[in-house]
Amino acid sequence: MSQRGFIQAGGVLGFCAILVFAGAPQTVPKIDWPVHDESRPLPPVVDPGPAGPPVPAPPGAVVLFDGKDLSAWSDGKGNPAKWKVEGGYMEVAAKAGSIQTRRGFGDGHLHVEWAAPAVVQGEGQGRGNSGVFLMNHYEVQILDSYGSKTYADGMAAALYGQHPPLVNACRRPGEWQTYDIVFRAPRFGAEKKLVSPAIVTVFHNGLVVHNNAVLTGPTAHKLRPPYIPHADKLPITLQDHGNPVRFRNIWIREL
Ligand code: MG
Repeated sequence: MSQRGFIQAGGVLGFCAILVFAGAPQTVPKIDWPVHDESRPLPPVVDPGPAGPPVPAPPGAVVLFDGKDLSAWSDGKGNPAKWKVEGGYMEVAAKAGSIQTRRGFGDGHLHVEWAAPAVVQGEGQGRGNSGVFLMNHYEVQILDSYGSKTYADGMAAALYGQHPPLVNACRRPGEWQTYDIVFRAPRFGAEKKLVSPAIVTVFHNGLVVHNNAVLTGPTAHKLRPPYIPHADKLPITLQDHGNPVRFRNIWIREL
């Protein structure tokens, strides 16, 4: 083979190798720490600086909440969502239950702005608890973790029960915070077998807190259950955990 031919062949082989690698199924990780282990180290605290104005939805994004109404949301049974809307935000209403988007989504970049209650009540999991569930199954925890401790895999921006965030980037209660969640849905193949698990990258107040984290399965409390095959697109859920957490400016760019 001429040198040129060799280089060309090498280039093609290299390209194929990259393709194979990129398309290879990722395996479900084994997490060394038991679920909710109180001795699991907490990540360092990093001050993300002051909150800015709402981040405008980019072209092509689906606006899920613009501060005006809950028309994109339901109570999960097809009825209107009953959370409070006022002053450009929505707020978890007592006993109203979790709410979910009327549309389903799979892969995407989801932008969510939230604020824990300015009047601090409770501690640990009882303080400013809510959550963003991708595809109804995979929770990015919302919690007031500003000077408040809980188990590492249940703090703010944790992939609940699995991966603590890389840093604690919480702002003070009452201040607006951002999540930018880049989600790759799990893939299920023939006979509903898992082909590749869900992969999540998250920025909390602009700081990366998960870098292509691989989920072990759906979110659960005190458990890490295996994947259950599901549709390619499912609603996004915001959790009612009994605390009046606020949300504004929610949009998603489908990928
Ligand atoms: Mg929660």
